[in-house]
Amino acid sequence: MEAQESGEHKYVYDFAEGNKELKDLLGGKGANLAEMTNLGLPVPPGFTITTEACKAYLTTGREPDGLAGQIEAHLESLEREMGRRLGEPDDPLLVSVRSGAKFSMPGMMETVLNVGLNDRSVIGLSAQAGGNDRFAWDSYRRLIQMFGKTVCEVPGEEFEHALDEIKSAKGTHNDLDLDADDLRGLVDAYKKIFAKHTGREFPQEPREQLDLAIRAVFDSWNAERAVLYRRQERIPADLGTAVNVVAMVFGNLGPDSGTGVAFTRDPGSGAQGIYGDYLANAQGEDVVAGIRNTVPLQELEQLDKTSYDQLLGIMARLEEHYKDLCDIEFTIERGKLWMLQTRVGKRTAAAAFVIAGQLVDEGLIDLDEALHRVNGAQLAQLMFPRFQLDHEFEPVAKGIGASPGAASGKVVFTSARAVELAAEGEAVILVRRETNPDDLNGMIAAQGILTSRGGKTSHAAVVARGMGKTCVSGADELEVNVPAKKFTVGGHVVNEGDVVSIDGTTGKVYLGEVPVMPSEVVQYFEGELDPETIDDALVRAVHRIMTHADAARRLRVRTNADTGADAARARRFGAEGIGLCRTEHMFLGDRRELVERLILASGEREREDALAALLPLQRADFIEIFREMDGLPVTVRLIDPPLHEFLPPLEQLAVNVAVAQERGEDVAKEEALLAAVRRMHEENPMLGLRGVRLGLVIPGLFAMQVRAIAEAAVAVVRDGGTACPEIMVPLVGAVQELETVRAEAERIIAEVVGDSGVEVLIGTMIEVPRAALTAGQIAEAAEFFSFGTNDLTQMGWGFSRDDVEGAFFWRYLELGIFGISPFESIDTDGVGRLIRIAAEEGRAARPGLKLGVCGEHGGDPDSVHFFHSVGLDYVSCSPFRVPVARLEAGRAAITTAGSDSR
Ligand code: PEP
Ligand code: MG
Repeated sequence: MEAQESGEHKYVYDFAEGNKELKDLLGGKGANLAEMTNLGLPVPPGFTITTEACKAYLTTGREPDGLAGQIEAHLESLEREMGRRLGEPDDPLLVSVRSGAKFSMPGMMETVLNVGLNDRSVIGLSAQAGGNDRFAWDSYRRLIQMFGKTVCEVPGEEFEHALDEIKSAKGTHNDLDLDADDLRGLVDAYKKIFAKHTGREFPQEPREQLDLAIRAVFDSWNAERAVLYRRQERIPADLGTAVNVVAMVFGNLGPDSGTGVAFTRDPGSGAQGIYGDYLANAQGEDVVAGIRNTVPLQELEQLDKTSYDQLLGIMARLEEHYKDLCDIEFTIERGKLWMLQTRVGKRTAAAAFVIAGQLVDEGLIDLDEALHRVNGAQLAQLMFPRFQLDHEFEPVAKGIGASPGAASGKVVFTSARAVELAAEGEAVILVRRETNPDDLNGMIAAQGILTSRGGKTSHAAVVARGMGKTCVSGADELEVNVPAKKFTVGGHVVNEGDVVSIDGTTGKVYLGEVPVMPSEVVQYFEGELDPETIDDALVRAVHRIMTHADAARRLRVRTNADTGADAARARRFGAEGIGLCRTEHMFLGDRRELVERLILASGEREREDALAALLPLQRADFIEIFREMDGLPVTVRLIDPPLHEFLPPLEQLAVNVAVAQERGEDVAKEEALLAAVRRMHEENPMLGLRGVRLGLVIPGLFAMQVRAIAEAAVAVVRDGGTACPEIMVPLVGAVQELETVRAEAERIIAEVVGDSGVEVLIGTMIEVPRAALTAGQIAEAAEFFSFGTNDLTQMGWGFSRDDVEGAFFWRYLELGIFGISPFESIDTDGVGRLIRIAAEEGRAARPGLKLGVCGEHGGDPDSVHFFHSVGLDYVSCSPFRVPVARLEAGRAAITTAGSDSR
């Protein structure tokens, strides 16, 4: 339009100018409204102000040059199209002003409806509505309320109070009993509230209303709850929101009007069919807020068959066009259907897999695309246990299974209490009549959310599904009394602190704690369910997509396991070896005493005796593990932690010694231990005598472990099995450390292995920054590297991994210094750079150097993509995360297919 002709930056797009690919610029809502407009679907006309305009406004504090003129031009063309002018007294055009970011942030940002109404146009609106004064005044009071709250920060409760007062004066609880005169009176009351809080009259100038509303939507990007939501959902903070200005259509013009929300498939299970809620004679916000109870969408067929059939046709068209589950919002204004929104719908983890499988069957997408549409976080959710129900447990209520899973916890009624108890380590269930965006903190803290009002599309349901939290909504048998901190149901009174259990799949609510059972997805991984024969859409879809992921991935997936049992489980879950066997766990329990003997040994002889006693035990451990892994590689790490971790704490010993002395008992051993603990005390044990340093200081310690590993491998091979041990040295920072250990290890291995055919690799952890930076040298002495990202993060950042998450990470997250703990997801810029350098320089020095990762990050979905991009050979993670890593490794491979340089 004019903007482009004059060479000015374009900030405003008519719906006809956009399309669904322009989400960055137009936000999800704007891009999809444009797409529907271009598909010829009935979308009320309007335009979108871009996210760039928002970003410019948020950075400079004022609207960018040219924006006002472009809004004017687009408004004029909207007015021409509608044949009405904004706020014109006789026949006003009214618009809604709606936020819409690239990623959906349900209810987090602002919307203002009915912009353009004032003391004069309210009369014109009544005439447009066939003399419906009640509707006109109701619309006007909604504008003042929303505008006051959103644009001018007038406390919302004041409007609520005024409404309650009018209702109680009239002796009713129902808004619908208020007539036109009541609502006109309410408008006066609202205007007074507005003036009292803002020091000015409610603005009568329609264009001023519009400009202020647009500005308020821009500002709402940085509202506290929006910031919190973005952090939780890992949405970048600098995207900004677009603003959609749309001609108003009304679902509250009488019984032949209404509004609804629908899904093209069940977002809970993925089952095909029509799912949705409809509310006659209401505005869209009434449905989303869950304030009045809706009816199932199917009932619309009886109420308005023409619109229902048209809607079904549109839903089928949208599914085919988007090739995915769509959710939509629509309004019927006196029998005419309007589409207000569509988007690829949020869904539960189970539905994501099931739908991806169905769409492949329907020929709409291929298996690569199916793999792309699910993720590791969803798979992890499906591996959660479910309730194990028998006759003992009778539900006390049934609501809507709004977000699946099984959750038990203490009942709390406020967000603040949820946060408080969760911080004390309690599992809590947040119980509300309905939630609103202010409850976000409590929802994050809770195990589950239970509401007595609202459907599958209420705030609680939508937000919980997005977070992967269990939620039961609309359990209307519950009488929730927040001030009294209790709810009643079927004659039971449940107070704050009592335990309840909720099933987000069935919607059932139980008193007390219900035991749980494993998920069928875990049973499938365990080999207990056969995907070829079982009639379970989820298991079949998971099997199919996992098979494809395995075929697609380049990264191998190993597991961290220290016992035969863990190794066996991990193998069933698809592990292709052990990436980290932490040997220190083998020194605990009743073997502690041997370690004490080792530490207290006063001479060479005593030390050798202690080591000789440990050797057969270690050998037996390794034999078990090698047998379980049956020829798959097993990386055994030599002992890593400071030795005093095997001794009792100083305070406890000191007390024991003092008490025993008092009683006149023999305390020689305790005294020796106490002296050793004192001698070994370190201010910074994580930076002290541990890892390879121990091996260099305590003669024979590493040698005993190397011997045990080699002897175990030989024993397995002599028994007809295979064993592929890889010996790993921890905490190396200089090649000389590794060379020293290596020389001794090679000598022992040669002696033990003889002609058995056993091959033992020797490599190192890369977990000290210096090791990463001198990887070229270290690779000369290492056949493999395994990145210890826990220590590398600790030492790269200078953060104590044991202390900081509780101490100050909350503040760093709040300040946006990081979006997620770097101990959870790899810091690609810093720690990731160390890994990249080490991988490149290590491989340059020793082509074919085997590279893996065995820190916690090995099972984190985002980190797996990073490790793929760096070209590692494998990731290693806890057994339970092995399937997640397999899936994400497959996803990483298809995302970079073609652009993968390795
Ligand atoms: C690491 O540091 O990442 C690692 C795997 O070793 P640990 O956690 O045992 O220190
Ligand atoms: Mg480590």
